Amino acid sequence: MDQERIQHLRELLNRASYRYYVLDDPEISDSLYDQYYRELEWLEAQYPELVAPDSITQRVGAELAAQFNAVPHRLPLYSLDNAFNLEELAQWEKRLVKLAGAVAYVCELKIDGLALALTYRAGLLVQGLTRGDGQTGEDITANIRTIRAIPLRLLTPDPPEWLEVRGEAFIPLSEFERMNQERAATGDKLFANPRNACAGTLRQLDPRVVSRRRLDFFAYAVPVSPAATQWETLERLEQYGFRVNPHRAFCPDQTAVQAFVQHWSTARHQLPYGTDGVVVKVNDFYLQAELGFSRKAPRWAIAYKYPPEEALTQVQTISVNIGRTGALTPVAELVPVLLAGTTVARATLHNRNRIYELDVRPGDSILVRKAGEIIPEVIKVIPELRPAESQPFTFPTHCPECKTEAVVEELLVRCPNLHCLGIVRASIEHWCSRNALDIQGIGEKLVAQLVGSGRVTSMADLYTLTAEELSALERMGTKSAQNVIISLTQSKTKPWSRVLFGLGIRHVGQSIAVLLTKTFPTVKELARAGVTDISGIYGIGLEIAESVHAWFQQPANQELIAALEGAGIQLGNTEPSTRAGTQLAGKTLVITGTLPKRSREECSQLIEDHGGKITSSVSKKTSFVIAGEKAGSKLTKAEELGVPVLSEAQLEELLGLMP
Ligand code: NAD
Repeated sequence: MDQERIQHLRELLNRASYRYYVLDDPEISDSLYDQYYRELEWLEAQYPELVAPDSITQRVGAELAAQFNAVPHRLPLYSLDNAFNLEELAQWEKRLVKLAGAVAYVCELKIDGLALALTYRAGLLVQGLTRGDGQTGEDITANIRTIRAIPLRLLTPDPPEWLEVRGEAFIPLSEFERMNQERAATGDKLFANPRNACAGTLRQLDPRVVSRRRLDFFAYAVPVSPAATQWETLERLEQYGFRVNPHRAFCPDQTAVQAFVQHWSTARHQLPYGTDGVVVKVNDFYLQAELGFSRKAPRWAIAYKYPPEEALTQVQTISVNIGRTGALTPVAELVPVLLAGTTVARATLHNRNRIYELDVRPGDSILVRKAGEIIPEVIKVIPELRPAESQPFTFPTHCPECKTEAVVEELLVRCPNLHCLGIVRASIEHWCSRNALDIQGIGEKLVAQLVGSGRVTSMADLYTLTAEELSALERMGTKSAQNVIISLTQSKTKPWSRVLFGLGIRHVGQSIAVLLTKTFPTVKELARAGVTDISGIYGIGLEIAESVHAWFQQPANQELIAALEGAGIQLGNTEPSTRAGTQLAGKTLVITGTLPKRSREECSQLIEDHGGKITSSVSKKTSFVIAGEKAGSKLTKAEELGVPVLSEAQLEELLGLMP
């Protein structure tokens, strides 16, 4: 049984490795490959007599491509052993400490590209090889010369007679996207990922093609280094004119290593190139030499790999969501799966065409990907695992919410009904979202209740809600209801650019909203602007300008703006320090007790300056009670009625007066 499994895994891994290294067209994900590889290693450890010299676990890299000269490496290029979690990393360091006592490390990001070995003679680049099978590389010198980050001559007046430099060639993410867009336009097959795009590019026979694609390079090693440590070697490489990744750390112990690993687990998603882990290296070369190499990898280094961002799971159903612009977006409801540290139960399918391209169906086994902040997406269907009775998914021709016939606009299918409750719900959720008005406590479920009952028909209606009616709703305690009211009031201090973004006008994202509000400091000016006035702004195209202009022409939207103005929302740029706000517009407040900073008159003035009204007794209609010391029956009454009670400091915070 185990013997069969070993055979099966070897075949599977050989095939995957051929597709990955030779064809640059992987058919399984790296994490799946790593899982199979681990299993094979484990089985081979149980049955050492079955370890064949040609087993993939005994090899580095893959066969060489025939079109380039094969050149033996002076010193082999090894692979790296992996640690798939912090515990494995700690075990590796424990073994080192046992052998060598205290050990210092250098942590470097593991760049997802292709290893190169460059030879310099008397300071001049004379040869560039791929890693190949580790013993022999492919001579791609002509292609390597086109990479701008690789110096053709070392920047030193006194170069060594001979120097080998190793590092990673890679394709920045933006260049990868550009290349794939170009390929999509010409109908060529898309590259699966930046690593394969880089490998495919470096194996081009025409260096002019390579030169057009902006490859990059980080140097990370000198196998025979004039320096005594890895840290100094990296510094020297910089002095020679190489690009060395700046995100590296000297780590005196394992705690510092773990901190580096943890920091980059999320921070790496902001980098303009792909990384799949951290390489931890023993700093001291003397110690490195003592530790030496196993058959495939150095004992003085390890690659910590971040948890997979792709996973295999099943589609339960495909639902169609309505966005705030009416777009009908298909979403795969999944059998929940753990991915990059979170449980993923839904993944976007983007649009109707994407469903047809993937031919994804309910019941299908699929690969789902989640990278950093990016919304999980279905990237591939595994046709071999498709149930026999499966039927292709038919995209609805009518809005699933209001049943209006949907209109097709290029890739988008949209519900044209402005009053569609699905659109209203999505618009309100967007208004409350973190980057818009950031209203806490109003989530999907509450919006569904408020819109479903007809109490709220637009975002402006949110500002007429009272704590009392909210607390009467299902799953809403008095405290949560009060917090919603406070958060709604606070949202009135949010700047005009966020308000504009919150309106959810098609094509108006956060940065476009900022650009628009710089040129049009008030809503009135923006509403009056013609298409050419708007498209005249640098960075704003015709499509956006038309969308903004059309939005302001709709009477329903004009009414919405008037209602938001009445509610005290910032519809223009203001200087908060010189002008009082309208945050308390439509609110009734009661002051009770002695306040720490202001007299009652001063506090009343402050409230009125911000649009609020003062009354003397507390009722259900009271929006807030401002309570100071020795507050008596009014405070008790407020508590009985569930009216939010604020201190003077909280009032200041609400009005944006806190430093
Ligand atoms: P590796 O990628 O795990 O690690 C070694 C490589 O790391 C080096 O050769 C070097 O290119 C690179 N590296 C990046 N930054 C570095 C740095 N700062 N210092 C040192 N090295 C650095 O090992 P490998 O042998 O190159 O490849 C094996 C991996 O390739 C597998 O774990 C798998 O993820 C992937 N693979 C995937 C498939 C597939 O079908 N998807 C097939 C074969 C291999």
